[in-house]
Amino acid sequence: MCRGKAVIAVRRHNANFCRPHFLEHVRRQVERTIEDYKMFGVDDRMILGVSGGKDSLALWDILTGLGYRVDGVYLHLGIGEYSSESLNLSQAFAHVRGLNLDVVDLTAEYGFAIPQAAAASRRTPCSACGLSKRYSLNRIAGERGYDVLVMGHNLDDEAATLFSNVLGWNVEYLGRQHPVLPANGEGLCRKVKPLIRVAERETAAYAILSGIEYEVEECPMATGNTINRYKEWLNRLEEQSPGIKANFLFGFLERGSPLFEMSDHIALRNCSNCGQPTTGDVCAFCRLQQVTITRKHER
Ligand code: SF4
Ligand code: ZN
Repeated sequence: MCRGKAVIAVRRHNANFCRPHFLEHVRRQVERTIEDYKMFGVDDRMILGVSGGKDSLALWDILTGLGYRVDGVYLHLGIGEYSSESLNLSQAFAHVRGLNLDVVDLTAEYGFAIPQAAAASRRTPCSACGLSKRYSLNRIAGERGYDVLVMGHNLDDEAATLFSNVLGWNVEYLGRQHPVLPANGEGLCRKVKPLIRVAERETAAYAILSGIEYEVEECPMATGNTINRYKEWLNRLEEQSPGIKANFLFGFLERGSPLFEMSDHIALRNCSNCGQPTTGDVCAFCRLQQVTITRKHER
């Protein structure tokens, strides 16, 4: 764009960027996603799920740079050093920029940490963790009166999840895989993913080029995570055919997704234990909590 020295090549856009133009390009991708999907406006009260990783911190930086006022919430998962270090990085980021970061400790709030939940249930660590994150963040956003819960899922996350849902033909999940999930008036606020046009490698580059310090260590419980394996496979395809990942995801969102939308509205009721919306009597999170705490007492 300017003939300055390029620092990164983005093959699917057939472009090399210098530092300022790359940062501008990423911000523009996010801005365009917010506009295209009508995600939120400047008056909405927003809360971002912050993990201390590159995606959530880069997104926080981009959204505040675009003039949005966004609070953060860090969920302490109790995964040893990894959680402590991620918390420190998140707090340092918020402190330097004068942003509000709430910290919720899974153990203090619900009586268990992710390693215990994974050991006590039949779930993999990432499945127990994903359920706990979805539940806690939805609950915090709803109870504290936010209009929008913002999540830092990137292009690779969404393409790999789509790939997984297609491989298993999980039609119910395919019907719900959308960058905006509307508020349902039953305790769930609007949930949005403004980073889906930006690949994982690009959020890392954005963070590094912006001087953002983020957690670079991989979570010790990630071993065997199938989504990470699907990401590797999709990256191999991307190497051969730049743009295939974005085509897969955005082709689905434009042409495939409407075919999977449920014609019948799934009725939600309140969990008999915690009061949060669920399809059954007791929600999946409360069942996970019960099994984990029972196992803890048995020991
Ligand atoms: Fe949770 Fe799995 Fe991510 Fe670790 S890798 S933070 S266990 S989802
Ligand atoms: Zn519940």
